[in-house]
Amino acid sequence: MLIDGCGRQIDYLRLSVTDRCDLRCAYCMPPEFDDFEISDQWMNFNEIVRICRIFIDLGVSRVRLTGGEPLVRARIVDLVHGIGQLPGLYDLSLSTNGTRLQEFAPKLQTSGVQRLNVSLDTLSPHRFLTLTRRDALHNVLAGLEVARKSGFRLIKINMVWLPEFNGDELDAMIKYCMERNFVLRLIENMPMGDAARQLGSSSLQPLISELRERFHLVDQIVAGAGPARYLATPDQSFSVGFITPMSQHFCEACNRVRVSVTGTLHLCLGQNHRLELLPMLRGGSTDQEIALQIREAVMQKPLSHEFQTNPKKIVRIMASTGG
Ligand code: SAM
Ligand code: SF4
Repeated sequence: MLIDGCGRQIDYLRLSVTDRCDLRCAYCMPPEFDDFEISDQWMNFNEIVRICRIFIDLGVSRVRLTGGEPLVRARIVDLVHGIGQLPGLYDLSLSTNGTRLQEFAPKLQTSGVQRLNVSLDTLSPHRFLTLTRRDALHNVLAGLEVARKSGFRLIKINMVWLPEFNGDELDAMIKYCMERNFVLRLIENMPMGDAARQLGSSSLQPLISELRERFHLVDQIVAGAGPARYLATPDQSFSVGFITPMSQHFCEACNRVRVSVTGTLHLCLGQNHRLELLPMLRGGSTDQEIALQIREAVMQKPLSHEFQTNPKKIVRIMASTGG
C-alpha cells in the first residue's frame, strides 16, 4: 500500500497524457497560452505504461487519464489499450472536454475505459464559444449521445460553477443530466494560474443546501470519492457531486497523486511538492528504484492545499498538472 506521511492511502493516479488542448476554457488556459511542453519531453507510451505498472504494484488500483485534452494525443486508443491490460488495475477512467467523443467513445470503451468525466459548463452555444473560444458545443453534445450508448459504467458531467456566467443554467443542466442518467458534478473554480485567479471563485455551500431541499437529496456514500461529496435523490436515480476546495476542503480524505505528461509527479494540486520521474525512466533506473523514490515522495504529500490562504501560490494551470 502507498501511504503518505499523514496516514492517507493513495490508491488513485491521475495521469496527464498531454498538456495540449483544442479548447481554451477561461478558467484553465488563457487564449494566448503557448508555454507547452516540447514533445521529446513527453513520456512515450512505453514510459506511461511502465509508470502505471509501478504505481499499480505500489497499491494504486484506479487510474484516470486526463490532460490537457487526452483525446488530442495521437494514438490515444493504443495507450488506453496498453494501460487497460495491466493486471491489478481495478478502474480506468478518462476526463475529456468531449469535442472528439463522437469518434472516440466506442473505441475507448472497448479498450478498457469504464467511466468518463466530460466537461460541460453551459448548454448555450453562444456561451460555450465565449467560455472556450471554440464553437464546439454541438460536437460535445453529439459526443455525449454516442458515449451514452457505448456502454460506459458511469458518465459524469463536470460543470465549473461560475454563477454570473452559468448560474441560470443549473436547472437546465440538472434536467439534461437526469434525462440521460449522468451524474452532475459542480466544481468551485480553483486559483490555478492567473486566468483562473482573475475569474474568482463562488462558494457552492448555499447551492448545496438549496438543492438538498428542492430535490429532497440525501447524502450518498461513494467509495473512493476522495475530496468530493455526493448527494442523491432518495431513489438514487440522480446524483450530484460537489467539489468544494475553496469553501470546504476535504484534503484529509485525499487519495490521489498526479503525473504530468513530462513525468512530473505532483503530490498536491495546490502545492509545488514534486518528483521528476523522467530522468529515472530514461536514466536506467529499475522499477524498484523508481518505486522507492515514489514511496519517499508520497511521504512528503502535503496535508492540504492553500488556495484560500495563499491564492497566488500556484502559477501552473490545471491543464499542465492534469486536472
Ligand atoms: N480537457 C479535459 C476536460 O476539460 O475535462 C481534461 C482536463 S481538465 C484540466 C480537467 C477538469 O479540470 C475539467 O473538468 C475542468 O473543468 C477542470 N478545471 C480546469 N481548470 C480549473 C480551475 N481553475 N478550477 C476548477 N476546475 C478546473
Ligand atoms: Fe482544455 Fe480541459 Fe483546460 Fe478546458 S479545462 S482548456 S478543455 S484542458
